[in-house]
Amino acid sequence: MNIVLQQCTAGCEAQPRSHRVKQRFSQIGSRAEITIWNIPALVCPLCHQSFVEEEVAEQLILFCRPFHGTPGNIPDLPPAKVAIDFEKATLVTSQSAGKSVMIYEG
Ligand SMILES: [Zn+2]
Repeated sequence: MNIVLQQCTAGCEAQPRSHRVKQRFSQIGSRAEITIWNIPALVCPLCHQSFVEEEVAEQLILFCRPFHGTPGNIPDLPPAKVAIDFEKATLVTSQSAGKSVMIYEG
């Protein structure tokens, strides 16, 4: 599945290109900081804003949920840095219902 973004939503005169991006996720009230890399996205060559498919966005929310919980229900975890390889995690979750590949750093 591919999405074609003809133009950046910021109005740049350039067509966003396919890239793998890295993004950091944190949530107020949670001490877990999540970095997810290898995220398939379209990136605007001018303003570097990235756009992801809805499917991808849903996956990202899913990967963050065990650490960040849901609004009003944030798990009480010790401070942690979590790194997730989007591609591997997606592969594993699609094979064995809900287990992700994660690496904990001190
Ligand atoms: Zn742009």
